[in-house]
Amino acid sequence: MNPIRYISTRGAQTPLAFKDAVMTGLARDGGLLIPDRIPDVAARLEEWKDLDYPDLAFEIIRLFTDDVPEARLKELIAAAYASFAHPEVVPVRKVGRLHVLELFHGPTLAFKDVALQFLGRLFEEILEERQGRLNILAATSGDTGSAAICGVRGQERIHIFVMHPHDRVSDLQERQMTSVLDANVFNLAVKGSFDDCQLIMKTLFSDLPFKDRHELGTVNSVNWARVLSQIVYYFYAAFRVFEETGAAQVQFTVPTGNFGDILAGWYAKRMGLPISRLVLATNENDILARFFNTGVYAKGQVVPTVNPSMDIQVASNFERWLYYKVGSDPKAVARLMTQFALEGRMEIPRDAKGRVDLEIVAGSSDTRRTLATIKRYHEKHNYLLDPHTAAGVFVAEQYDELDDPMICLSTAHPAKFPDAIEDATGQDLAHHPALDALKKAPTRCEVVENSIDAIKTYLAARAL
Ligand SMILES: *Cc1c(COP(=O)(O)O)cnc(C)c1O
Repeated sequence: MNPIRYISTRGAQTPLAFKDAVMTGLARDGGLLIPDRIPDVAARLEEWKDLDYPDLAFEIIRLFTDDVPEARLKELIAAAYASFAHPEVVPVRKVGRLHVLELFHGPTLAFKDVALQFLGRLFEEILEERQGRLNILAATSGDTGSAAICGVRGQERIHIFVMHPHDRVSDLQERQMTSVLDANVFNLAVKGSFDDCQLIMKTLFSDLPFKDRHELGTVNSVNWARVLSQIVYYFYAAFRVFEETGAAQVQFTVPTGNFGDILAGWYAKRMGLPISRLVLATNENDILARFFNTGVYAKGQVVPTVNPSMDIQVASNFERWLYYKVGSDPKAVARLMTQFALEGRMEIPRDAKGRVDLEIVAGSSDTRRTLATIKRYHEKHNYLLDPHTAAGVFVAEQYDELDDPMICLSTAHPAKFPDAIEDATGQDLAHHPALDALKKAPTRCEVVENSIDAIKTYLAARAL
């Protein structure tokens, strides 16, 4: 069979091999890169079901790569997941009627480590082979920044510049980033808002001479390697729950922001994992829940919430799903995305029963319900949910009508959000030794003006 190649959802990108797709990030025509086919692994489930996490990851990831030598790929995967504190990497816990998939045992205690610990090592491998260099620029309001920093810290061929809004991220999240003292890590506190940071990002990436001169790159969730590495835990969790319950199918609930995580579950289903459906959970920023209930994808205003990693206006990975939804027609994707860019709205036809999709259903939580869910699970099950996971659990409970076991993805350790836990339970319960230790750790961070020129000058002086 021909090796897998990566094509654009908008159709105008020469097909790329895996490593080039990883280094490219976004396709040149503005679309997202997707594999030119989805392997069917239904016949291999029996053979895979007892594999440990790194071996399972190797079996799945190798199907999508043909240009990393297999022995090397195996080492990269082993090293990435050796950084996790739990022997199972992503254990599944039975909590009441639900199965909670704990994705937060990585070094920054958020599920983004699953992808970024692998992506960081993959970058290193490719840059070493190509004798290349990369200057990563990122804007963060919280979680992504520390997971990205942790994925590439100490590397010789990468400098990472992470902008966060000065005095507007939680003290804990700021410390998780600024306590990393490796010489290749640059934390910038921009005197402005998160939107200002994103605007600076956008402007620098559209300044092509500047971008090319400094080999600027990103680690954002449109990178295919991030989605790919997340497919693995859907298989791993389903195998654990099949074993425990004897069920033949499972469902998953996913606290969703940029749609990367749930998209990985959708690929797992397409590959032949018996998932009856995926339940998408949002907070008050419910563009995706509204879409899956009405077929209308329309921008709203972002409101700040207790689960900030789900506060999005536009879900960057949605376009990949849309591609398959419109019958793998890149012209239709381009038309819809252009319409959305111009009008802030697009619409997908519903079926005769009024349904938008048969594989993904969606609901939303809000601050009050999320905090009540945290309190209830703590009292009833002695289990602490972080506010992202709790929004998912709340929505999962609304979709309890199928017999298939429900697996809820737990995307962060509760200790990352101590204020929400205290608001919910009235007690200071959420701790983790790694986070408590940060209070005394030395930090390094540069406060910079909210100005494109100031950031440009800063970057030009310190880029590799
Ligand atoms: C990023 C993040 C999410 C959202 O995941 P997406 O892939 O963007 O949908 C949910 N919870 C936490 C804790 C996160 O960091």
